[in-house]
Amino acid sequence: MLAPLQLNGFYASSKAIGSTNKWVVAVIDGDLLIASDNSVGAGPIAIDIGQADSLNFFRERSICVGQWQDSDCEVWELIPEAAAIDGFTRVELRSVLAGSSDAEFSLICRALQLLDWEVKHKYCGSCGQPNLVSETDHALQCHSCDIQQYPRISPCVIVAVIKDDKCLFARHPSWPANRFSTLAGFIEAGESAEQALHREVFEEVGIEIENIRYVGSQAWPYPGQLMLGYMAEAKTDVIKIDGVEIAEANWHRYDQLPDVFAPPTIMAGRLIEQFVMESKAKYG
Ligand SMILES: [Zn+2]
Repeated sequence: MLAPLQLNGFYASSKAIGSTNKWVVAVIDGDLLIASDNSVGAGPIAIDIGQADSLNFFRERSICVGQWQDSDCEVWELIPEAAAIDGFTRVELRSVLAGSSDAEFSLICRALQLLDWEVKHKYCGSCGQPNLVSETDHALQCHSCDIQQYPRISPCVIVAVIKDDKCLFARHPSWPANRFSTLAGFIEAGESAEQALHREVFEEVGIEIENIRYVGSQAWPYPGQLMLGYMAEAKTDVIKIDGVEIAEANWHRYDQLPDVFAPPTIMAGRLIEQFVMESKAKYG
């Protein structure tokens, strides 16, 4: 196992180590149930097994997530009635993610993705027989045709497109009028991340990009994306929106940003933060 310092307590594994302590990530319909005495962002999003005992009755499924703070951790899917139990608060996923550390973020994403994966892969896609949980791997297995299904991770690119002291912000048609973000899209089969960046940006806003720089990656549990974050420079500043995936897109100077965008704990926000920091150093 890697040193805990490198992972900040999060270790993705399919195997329990039989620790004395144990943690539970409690999920209700895609939301999290946390101990009420921990405000979001301030306290652990995993519940101590002793405290989680009162939730056991409401448990529908559980999966080993790995280890959290050196102890075994499971995700429990609970029926909605569990939210009425004293001592716990149901919180919306996005607000939890917005206030989470990198390690907590990973733990939550893994927990939710494993639940989603198990529900959606009950049957073999080849022969239709029920899949069984593999005893050796974190996989679902069809014993009749020996096919294993692993949790599906879908890589996406997300990019801050920059032109001098401005960054491109776009709004999806389903978003509120004042919410904007950077551009993002799935990597298509056969594409490299760089090809996906060129294609997505051109499709959505009609702009060609250059000087692509990788910033970092982050899981995103809707339901199993891996966001690869980049900065890129626009060759031109003329925006032509596609009108389907993007309802509105504008250039914003680093000191005149839109009202609502992602916090820096989320990749989109991290890219915007980096754009502002670099622009201040260059133009401020
Ligand atoms: Zn099969």
